[in-house]
Amino acid sequence: MVDAVIIAIGSELLTPSRTDTNSLHLTDQLNALGIEVRQKVVVGDDREALTEAVRHALQHASVVILTGGLGPTEDDVTRDAVAAALDRPLEFRQDISDAIEERFRARGRKMAEINKRQAFIIQGAEVLANPAGTAPGLWIELPSTADTVPSVPSTERRPSGSRQTQPSASDKLIVLLPGPPSEMKPVFEQECLPRFRRRVPGVVIRSRFYRVTGLTESDLDTLIAPVYTKYTNPATTVLASAGDIQVHLRARCESEDEAERLLAEIGDPIEALLGARLYSTNGDSLEAAVGMLLRARNAKLAIAESLTGGQLGQRITSVSGSSDYFVGGFLTYSDAMKSALLGVDPALLAQHTAVSQEVAAAMAAGARDRTGADYAIATTGEAGPKSNTGATPGTVFIGYASKGHSEAVRFVMPGDRNRVRGFATNAALDLLRRRLLGLKS
Ligand code: ATP
Ligand code: MG
Repeated sequence: MVDAVIIAIGSELLTPSRTDTNSLHLTDQLNALGIEVRQKVVVGDDREALTEAVRHALQHASVVILTGGLGPTEDDVTRDAVAAALDRPLEFRQDISDAIEERFRARGRKMAEINKRQAFIIQGAEVLANPAGTAPGLWIELPSTADTVPSVPSTERRPSGSRQTQPSASDKLIVLLPGPPSEMKPVFEQECLPRFRRRVPGVVIRSRFYRVTGLTESDLDTLIAPVYTKYTNPATTVLASAGDIQVHLRARCESEDEAERLLAEIGDPIEALLGARLYSTNGDSLEAAVGMLLRARNAKLAIAESLTGGQLGQRITSVSGSSDYFVGGFLTYSDAMKSALLGVDPALLAQHTAVSQEVAAAMAAGARDRTGADYAIATTGEAGPKSNTGATPGTVFIGYASKGHSEAVRFVMPGDRNRVRGFATNAALDLLRRRLLGLKS
């Protein structure tokens, strides 16, 4: 299997002011080619550090891709550092210099002397045209004789047999790409992709994508780890955010059939274990999944929000076509508004407070009655950090109403104010989803 290391160069990428997005784009592109990214490294504009990083990367992967630092200024060190790492000289190319000069002339400007630095290429490199900028990329295939691979201190050598796919020297490839994403992307697409396609044997990647709610990340892992840990292919990744978990299965095989067979072998038992907690197998959001259920039933939904402050309505209406089933809602933050707009009995509020099962159910019933919708959901609770009603911060009640029925479910959610509100919004959507599916819990 071909593997890669990506090195992003630029001191600004080590600060909070600039994020290395190039490596994300490249990872996506490389994965699609069946190339696994083993490591991403960010190195400042430091010649020695970069030379070191390139040498190290060459020992660990067969493809090393660098972005940035190809500009004309003193702090653009990539060409020099890679030349040093490979122990190869830089050569001046008149044709590149002429092309840069022409580029300036076309814009009515004169090329500065320092731009000539960009016309130096590492000996043996192929030039990758960069129509959107001045610095061309470079593509360097290392010759197949083992002794031309740069030597490293013996302490850095891996013990033999420590990995199955140690590429031979002839597999090594180094690619230098410009830093600005608007230059890097077209150079990769137009110059690198065709070259990679010729080099990399056909690999088929097939994936499954599950979205899950109603359990914590650790509970999910306890549940499905016995299945997925038996396999390294497909690779399983679990990503979690407040109340929403994504499980990705990715199979890399020589044929589509084999990939699909492997995905079924691990995916089917995982689906069975997840049961109704699995709400989407195609990447759809929870609000989109709920929307489909409502549409299929030709049903209308109304909402009443307190602690989520509009977030629930925002989520529901983020789905295009939601006007087919969503009639609207009420943002009732004070007790007075809960009574005035939803008809919640002031006595109920006085007796139980707004953060109660009784009031959440009454809010949902009120929203349903006042809009004529088929279903309504409501949120109320203490988002924290301080409590207005005496309820523990993080206490949330989700109300639900359908014809002749209303109820509310209590949750105590961890985290800060934002997290609690996010959890509550998910919990409201999920309660509706479960009821629409006819589930009692
Ligand atoms: P130039 O000829 O423009 O100097 P360069 O190849 O030297 O090109 P850099 O100077 O390293 O590129 O970066 C230029 C700009 O590109 C940076 O200021 C930054 O905005 C953007 N950039 C560089 N590297 C990355 C990266 N890894 N991810 C996102 N943006 C980047
Ligand atoms: Mg630069």
